[in-house]
Amino acid sequence: MKIAFIGLGNMGGPMALNLHKAGYQLSAFDLSAAACEVLRKEGVPIAASAADTLADAEVVVSMLPASQHVEALYLGSEGKPGLLEKLSAGTLVIDSSTIAASTSLKVAKAGAKRGVAVIDAPVSGGTAGATLGTLTFMVGGSKADLERARPVLEKMGSNIFHAGEAGAGQTAKICNNMLLGILMIGTSEAIALGVANGLDPKVLSEIMRRSSGGNWALEKYNPLPGVMENVPAFKGYAGGFGTDLMLKDLGLAQENAGAVRASTPLGGLARSLYASHSLAGHGALDFSSVIKLFQNKS
Ligand code: NAD
Repeated sequence: MKIAFIGLGNMGGPMALNLHKAGYQLSAFDLSAAACEVLRKEGVPIAASAADTLADAEVVVSMLPASQHVEALYLGSEGKPGLLEKLSAGTLVIDSSTIAASTSLKVAKAGAKRGVAVIDAPVSGGTAGATLGTLTFMVGGSKADLERARPVLEKMGSNIFHAGEAGAGQTAKICNNMLLGILMIGTSEAIALGVANGLDPKVLSEIMRRSSGGNWALEKYNPLPGVMENVPAFKGYAGGFGTDLMLKDLGLAQENAGAVRASTPLGGLARSLYASHSLAGHGALDFSSVIKLFQNKS
């Protein structure tokens, strides 16, 4: 089976490589020549443009930064036609970018009019999961289309969930990341309070981990340097999931909440706090560095 892969950045690059290693015939493209070069060196054929990846492709996978990129790619922009117009009926599009659910739905509806199946399949697991092929996919679209996509998704991830119809994958993704953003702030606040009272952060973290405040941050991703090894806090907050990416997802959550008139006060506050943290120059640091907002700097 031939796969067209568009968007070879931090996530898309290793995902495309896993498909290549699994034996799929790939044609890949990215606007960045440097991103293309990384894959070319691994033996992945690089096309001259996104449209040039499509010849004979039965499946198209995209991994792009944001809604506007996905909309422009598939639906066109500035009078230029999008990829949907060039795809044969029966093609399956898997968009793994994290974007607005409303954009995923719009692209899926436009695809359906042309007989092209479009599923949204955003991921969790970060660049490590993309490299190891252990991503979690949250899929929005019909069950039948998910089953068609499954063999491809299984080469890039280890958990595949059907969240519901088109756009539901995006909604599940931002619900999860909104919770993650909030719980990282809450965990940071609690640790900083204990430390301000002279408690040993390792002892406090262990008490909370085994008590009713236990959560994923305390289990696997402690935000305070020196408590846990091999987490971003241990490495000066390098790697991991950037503050600006968290900020983007919390923005999507607020946009989504506005559209359905949901009340998400903590999600809104969390977005503001990550925005302040980013404005203070920490946008590229892992999101767990948000603990800096609560630390005594004297
Ligand atoms: P990235 O910026 O590293 O990569 C995106 C790539 O898309 C870039 O190389 C860019 O040149 C390319 N691109 C943009 N428009 C294009 C077009 N029209 N045609 C071809 N290429 C185009 O971003 P990333 O970290 O790989 O993230 C991709 C998506 O995955 C985002 O939606 C992000 O929110 C989501 N995500 C990222 C992470 C993470 O840890 N980095 C985790 C989960 C989800």
